[in-house]
Order: sequence, then C-alpha cells, then structure tokens
Amino acid sequence: MHHKTIAEFSKDLAAKKISSVELTTLFLDRIKKLDGKLNSFITVTEEQALSAAKSADEKIAQNKQTALTGIPIAQKDIFCTDGVKTSCGSRMLDNFIAPYDATVVTNLKAAGTVMLGKTNMDEFAMGSSNETSFYGPVKNPWDLERVPGGSSGGSAAAVAASLAPGATGTDTGGSIRQPAALCNITGLKPTYGRVSRYGMIAFASSLDQGGPFAKTVEDVALLLNAMAGFDEKDSTSIDQPVPDYTATLNDSVSGLRIGLPKEYFSEGLNSDVAKAIEAAIKEYEKLGAQIQEISLPNTFLSAPAYYVIAPAECSSNLARYDGVRYGYRCKDPHDLLDLYKRSRSEAFGSEVKRRIMVGTYALSAGYYDAYYLKAQKVRRLIRDDFVQAFSKVDVILSPTTPTPAFKLGEKTSDPISMYLSDIYTIAVNLAGLPGISLPAGFVNNLPIGMQLIGNLFGEAKLLNVAHQYQKATDWHTRLPEGF
Ligand code: GLN
Repeated sequence: MHHKTIAEFSKDLAAKKISSVELTTLFLDRIKKLDGKLNSFITVTEEQALSAAKSADEKIAQNKQTALTGIPIAQKDIFCTDGVKTSCGSRMLDNFIAPYDATVVTNLKAAGTVMLGKTNMDEFAMGSSNETSFYGPVKNPWDLERVPGGSSGGSAAAVAASLAPGATGTDTGGSIRQPAALCNITGLKPTYGRVSRYGMIAFASSLDQGGPFAKTVEDVALLLNAMAGFDEKDSTSIDQPVPDYTATLNDSVSGLRIGLPKEYFSEGLNSDVAKAIEAAIKEYEKLGAQIQEISLPNTFLSAPAYYVIAPAECSSNLARYDGVRYGYRCKDPHDLLDLYKRSRSEAFGSEVKRRIMVGTYALSAGYYDAYYLKAQKVRRLIRDDFVQAFSKVDVILSPTTPTPAFKLGEKTSDPISMYLSDIYTIAVNLAGLPGISLPAGFVNNLPIGMQLIGNLFGEAKLLNVAHQYQKATDWHTRLPEGF
C-alpha cells in the first residue's frame, strides 16, 4: 500500500477506498517506525497533518477535491512553514518558528496536500551528501552506509523509503537532481523563476529554485502543477501561464532530437554509470528519438564559476544572521562585536563558514573584478553554449552524477571531490534551465540517475520525454529492501 504513487493514491481517495486520515496515519506510523534508520525528518507535524487530513476528507466527501487533495507530502526544512520550526539544517535557526508560509507551502496547502513534516538537509543547502546538517547525516535507504546525496537528501530518502509519497526540494547546483539520482526517485529542478522563492531561505539567490520529488514523472508533474506560477512577492518570479503538466505526458517522442554533450561523457565518469546511460539512450532510439552528439565547450568552467558565484551570494544572504534579530544568540556577549562574532562562529558549521569566507573574499575591493565579475562573464559563456545547443536539439541527455552514492565520510575531508559530484548539474543552474533526474539503472544494487535538460520553460517537454522512458522501463518501480 505505502509504495503506491501519488496518482494511485489520488484515485483511491476519490473512490473512497481510503480516507486521507487513514493515508496520513499510515505514513506517520512509517516515519515513527523507520526514520530512526534514516534521519530524514527534522520535525514531524503529526497534529497539523491529521487535522489537514480531516479537512481534506471533508472536501472529498463534497466532491470538491483536486488531484492532490488529501495527499501527504514532506517539505524540505528550507521552506518557511507558519508556526512550525524552520531550521534550514542549521544550529543558527534551530529555535526559529517561521511566522508565515513560503509560497510553495501556501500553494501546496491550497491544492489540498497534507504536510507530514520537515525534512533534513545540508546546512543552508550547502552540500552534496547531507553530512553538513546540524541534525546529523541522512542515510541512503539503498545502503545505510552511504549518503543519500544533498542538499535535499532528507526529502529524497523519505520518498525513496516510502515515508512520504512526494516531497519538495531546492536546487542551487544540483540539490534536487543529485539526491534523486542517488536514491532512485524522480526530481525536477524547474526553470529559474517558474516556482516562487518567497519564503524559501536564500542560499544563492540567482541560482536557487524549488521543485518536486516523487517516485514517478507523473507524480512530479502533479506536484509541479500546484507549485509553479507567478508570485508578486518574488521579484524574479516570471509571469507565464502554468500549463497542465500532466496533459502532454503521453505525447510521442518520435522524431525528438536528443543531444549528448560530449564533455559530459568523458574522463571522471564511472564506466558502469556510462553503460547504464548508454542503455537509456538505446531505449530512446527504440522510441524513435534522433540522437546526436553536441558540444558544451565551457563545461569545464562550470564548477569554478559556481564556486565563486554561489559563495559570493551566500556571504551576502547569510549576513542577516547576526544574533540580533532572530536565530541563535551567544550567551553573555560583552559588546556588540562579540555578539556578532560568537553568535556566528558558534551557530554556523564549517562548510557554511568556508563558503562565507570564500564569498567575502571574492566580493572584496580589489578582488571583485578578478573573481566575481570574471565568474559572471564565464556564466554568460556557459549559458551561450546551451543557447547554441538548443538551436540543434530539443532536449539534452546525460548522467546526473559521475558515480553512484558514495560512503558516509568518504568525501567530507576533501571539499573539491565533494564539489565534483555536481559536475553535470551545476551548469543547468548557471544557465537558469530546467533539469530532471530519473532512475536509469543500478550498479551493485545502487541506483543510477539520468538527467534530461530542457530549454527555458520547457518543463512540459522534459516531463513528457521522461515519462515516455518510464513507460518503457521499470527502474523507477524498484524499491529499497527493508522499507
Ligand atoms: N552541492 C552544491 C553545493 O554545495 C549544490 C547545492 C544545492 O544545490 N543546494 O553548493
């Protein structure tokens, strides 16, 4: 029962085979019983969930439901939730009860979903393994000694282990796609501006974008229907109509032009991952797609540009945590400077401090032009590569990550090797494009993800292309043992 998809639960709810209260109780019980192994939740909101489920059941009784009414979901703890602790994985916000809902939360509530709780994440979304969380690492349900990916690792692990049928995440450099890949689920990073950032705690504002996780593409489309849309409270939100993303899932992909960036299939790519992706390409050929090699020549500059721009923006965004207005405050400061210094040094973890230092340096007088401005110019070149590519192809296909899930602790002392786990995802954020990761095979019982990259506002096309693959394969139906 708990393994069903959102689309299946939605039918069961409409047919009154199960009530939302029963469904919500089922998942709350699973969280209680199993999350001790994973640590995927920071907060479980049992009472609110049951009362939301009751209201959903009333709506269903009156036949006033949407496809998501009564569906339990989990929210990444980066989204502000009215009256509920919103920690962003940090000691800094361990005592922060948000006074309002993020627009994503408002939209999902309006669609009738039931929030089960808030999921664990890397501190301020900085990380690729969930090991930087103040609340301890999350374990990968496929192998409890391995990472689930990050920064949205709690959401990905919870969905993979069927502790929630769907969840939200955010993706600044790969944080939806990379954990989706490592946990064998589907995750979409929308076009920059498609989903409101209002109430989503900022890491690097020009890159951050919220998006959905679920077991299938169809479920991701259902969640995106509710999450996407213009929001006047977010100045970078774009006023474009939201199509019904489920309406085009079954379009044929015959004649579709798929580009394979040669730079993504080179050195550093694990050979088993490469084999799985080659098999996925064959599957698309069978479906009638035309495959061609393309080049994204500035790919090698993505990680260096990202690791200047993201820290620069984070150093500015995180300046607000000063111990004065909200969040952590050190004990007995002897003056204002001491208050600032100790509050920040006691409450931020080491990865966050590393980024603040790098970013502050890159933005300082004398270095701004050499680092920040240069990185912005490189960002334009990377975007131009994609503009060129999309004049030749409809979507771009690649692995999501160079390797399957790595061991906990394996990369914590080597930040560069950790940063390289997002090597295929980062450029997509720099260019503001949508990208999806979906299950595409296994190596030694560890999942492998395939990434599809679309043109700006090409979510419907991406979901269509991804759904056709899921109709032809069964990787996404495989479940981790013990869950
Ligand atoms: N792993 C990348 C980083 O640490 C991306 C994180 C993210 O997308 N939030 O910056």
